[in-house]
Amino acid sequence: MNMTIQGARVVDVRSSLPRHKTLKYGRRKLTDIRSAAVHHSATLSGSPEAFARYHVNTNGWPGIAYHYVIQKDGVIYWCNDPEAISYHVGNSNRHALGICLVGDFRTQKPTPEQLDAANRLIQHLQVQIPSMKQVFGHQEYPGYAWKNCPAFPMGTFRTNYSQFLQKAVSKVDKPKQVPVAISLNGSLLSVTGFLQDGVSMLPVRAVANAAGGKVEWIEQTKDVRVNGKDLNEKLISGSAYAPARELAAALCLQIEWDQATKTVRMMKGSVSK
Ligand SMILES: [Zn+2]
Repeated sequence: MNMTIQGARVVDVRSSLPRHKTLKYGRRKLTDIRSAAVHHSATLSGSPEAFARYHVNTNGWPGIAYHYVIQKDGVIYWCNDPEAISYHVGNSNRHALGICLVGDFRTQKPTPEQLDAANRLIQHLQVQIPSMKQVFGHQEYPGYAWKNCPAFPMGTFRTNYSQFLQKAVSKVDKPKQVPVAISLNGSLLSVTGFLQDGVSMLPVRAVANAAGGKVEWIEQTKDVRVNGKDLNEKLISGSAYAPARELAAALCLQIEWDQATKTVRMMKGSVSK
């Protein structure tokens, strides 16, 4: 996985951290990952090496609990493959990726560098792992309400994060965008989509409204659904864009791509269910 993150320093310590002699973490597919779990280390200071030693020697675990550790200076340490099902949120381990900020936030505050690095890391990972749509504090996972981790307000973190994300996404994506015209049942819509990495991304709300589909916006998770179907959408300046094929399927429309005019044509027709 590409871990070059603009504005952040990533140090790959996966092969140098202490590991259990025989035990190994189970593996999963990247598409099994649904959320990023944010932790604090609950220690005033620390390092990936120190955490790994504790998790292996004291807890008897296969390796360090976290996939990423973020030091107070904002340096991100890459500790486990995202595919490793490491131990950090109990029953939710299979679908969660663990990110630990060094510090005890019951008495300390995360540094601005740490929060910035966490934002950049999560944004980067959501591009690499599109199934990872949510960000939760450890405490927000089922069965962990009692645990004061990460001991800073996740609501505020998510609000700041989504603002950061929108800025970052629109900054990164706009220069690469090739506009795409959209035709519905033979007439061109006034809105356009864009081509990204060979995929046509269409404005969800405008297209769904024109086609008479039902759009739901789930504020808490920043999720968009069309006719009840979850889409791999991307938020750009507050508007959701989804891959044309997914959107057409949710709207029960047939779809064609006209390369010459860069037009997505969608029409009602015999659609297999
Ligand atoms: Zn935790």
